[in-house]
Amino acid sequence: MPRALRPLPKDLIAGLMGNYQHIVVLTGAGLSAESGLSTFRDKGGIWSKYDYRDVATPEGFARDPGLVLDFYNQRRRAHAHVAPNAAHVALARLEHEHPGEVIIVTQNIDTLHEAAGSQNLIHMHGEILKALCASCGTRHAWAKDIVVDTRCPACGKAGGMRPDVVWFGEMPYHMERIAEHLSAADLFLSIGTSGNVYPAAGFVAEARINGAHTVELNLEPSEGASLFAEAIHGPATAVVPAYVERLLTG
Ligand SMILES: [Zn+2]
Repeated sequence: MPRALRPLPKDLIAGLMGNYQHIVVLTGAGLSAESGLSTFRDKGGIWSKYDYRDVATPEGFARDPGLVLDFYNQRRRAHAHVAPNAAHVALARLEHEHPGEVIIVTQNIDTLHEAAGSQNLIHMHGEILKALCASCGTRHAWAKDIVVDTRCPACGKAGGMRPDVVWFGEMPYHMERIAEHLSAADLFLSIGTSGNVYPAAGFVAEARINGAHTVELNLEPSEGASLFAEAIHGPATAVVPAYVERLLTG
């Protein structure tokens, strides 16, 4: 009697058939580094020059709002001079050409995914080109500097305007929507992230529990590299377009 064949796992079937139905892509600073935006955690990155407790926490903002606003004004000004790179463009192509759903969850506060043409996008750490009024909770598109005296266009109050970015100690945005996507994912890609910042670092485990194939694309093995079924290392502008090509052409 031949033994009954065990059914293939869903990630393997999808991979063989090249027809993932629900791709979740997590992106981080490594993706935008080649566009000229500094990373935060790498050697020589922004956190080697600034103490995050001074410039990226609610306590830091309460202590010295001018310092915090100036820090983000610099980030916002740098943003005006960068353009999406080949990796951003490849991910936008994936969204438009892949027959299944593709959602990007980005930890980046830049808007390079949008500039490349991505539309199905979640900014879990907020956006540098938006301001948030702590007095009335209104969000505003914002391309200029913010200073302590900047008034909220909605409520008119000064002193509460801040960049609409998630600081250390604050809850990332859209966690419920992200969890829904992770539970539906059959392919999870992690691109350019250091793998040591929760909750994003835990997404690979969530995706695996739900049966997704998991792939890390990063310059070098991240701290969480061993959690992935597959890992591809190299510059994002090289490995991401090549991987997207592989997905689209089977
Ligand atoms: Zn307001």
